Amino acid sequence: MKKLIYLKYGELTLKGKNRVNFIDCLYRNTIKALSQYNLNIVKHFDCMTIYEINDKNIESIVTILKRIPGIFKIIIAYEINNNNLSNVGNFVVDLIKEKNFNSFKVETKRHDKSYPINSMDFSKQIGGIILKNIENKQVKMNNFDLLITIEIKEKSAICYFESINGFGGFPVGISGKTLVLISGGIDSPVAASLLMKKGMHIDFLTFITPPHTSDKALEKVKLLTKKITLNCLLDQSKLFVCNITHIQNELAHMKDSSYQITLMRRYFFRIAEYLMNKYKYDAIATGESLGQVASQTIQSMQTIESVLKPGTIVLRPLLSYDKLEIIKLSKEIDTYEISIQPYSDCCSLFVPKQPTTKPTIGKALELEKDLELVNDLYQRTLKKYIKIID
Ligand code: ATP
Ligand code: MG
Repeated sequence: MKKLIYLKYGELTLKGKNRVNFIDCLYRNTIKALSQYNLNIVKHFDCMTIYEINDKNIESIVTILKRIPGIFKIIIAYEINNNNLSNVGNFVVDLIKEKNFNSFKVETKRHDKSYPINSMDFSKQIGGIILKNIENKQVKMNNFDLLITIEIKEKSAICYFESINGFGGFPVGISGKTLVLISGGIDSPVAASLLMKKGMHIDFLTFITPPHTSDKALEKVKLLTKKITLNCLLDQSKLFVCNITHIQNELAHMKDSSYQITLMRRYFFRIAEYLMNKYKYDAIATGESLGQVASQTIQSMQTIESVLKPGTIVLRPLLSYDKLEIIKLSKEIDTYEISIQPYSDCCSLFVPKQPTTKPTIGKALELEKDLELVNDLYQRTLKKYIKIID
């Protein structure tokens, strides 16, 4: 009998050729994420199995597995080499005799439909073997203490007692690549994580405004990107750092201050689109959520997004999320505590007294006509002020 970790894929989306791509991609990602442990990872059509697990590593292996997109269930299981009924029964008795329980239920799944005993009879007979070999136990169909699941495979059987929910979604890399605009706040790290969950490879772009923002603000963003990718175990992400101090300084003097944030964000999107074309991203993404702040009304999004060329797509995975839902997710991916550290990013330092909630494209274009200097600075930004951190 061998101990193993048994991983299940979500079944609904796995059809035809997609299935092969999905499994291959998830297999590569899992091998990479667990490379430090010297495991034997085997892919099958309906599951993945991990052997040669050292008991002392199990907890940290499961912690990583819980974050890998594409895995639906993580099960610590025992593989019984021969699927003959009495052999399975004896092994199950061995596995549970030290466990603390009064009542139990056996559930059997037959992967191999040619197996001569049907699932219901198999469960009943295993239950009989347990009752015969371990005293004072009771079978219960509901409210049992111990659920014993047995899966009968072609030549072997797998037995386990509980399963852990995985992250779900699709393997990273299968849905293309996106450039996520990340600030030090709560939202954009969650948005990035949700896109990874849907199978996107992500790289990050952050805007800084030294000396208005301290080095700590950038350190915070770096820390967040590390958390999101579990120190690159989930994805090998780059961080683009773009210094826009000179643009911000000019915008600070513009005549209609209610448009400062709108215009600043139009530059964000122009710079993001430039990188998108240069590095062949499929999309740009933000952590915007409808109505959260002045710059996140539909009119604002439209005015900001209108700088992009037709065909450039902006993904906003948090559009319909409430702040409390976002906070809950940020705690799950462990970014919350970093996000609430006080080091401000450029936007929080640059909030006009009355930012417009209903900007128009016409007015934005009109104001930009007076900003020749900024436009010149923008071109210089593209040439000089973007650094890449791998
Ligand atoms: P977050 O919590 O992600 O900072 P927020 O609620 O503070 O979001 P805003 O500051 O209005 O909202 O920013 C909206 C989005 O714009 C962010 O989610 C992020 O995608 C992008 N953004 C804001 N500031 C920056 C920055 N300094 N660098 C890169 N992207 C930014
Ligand atoms: Mg912010």
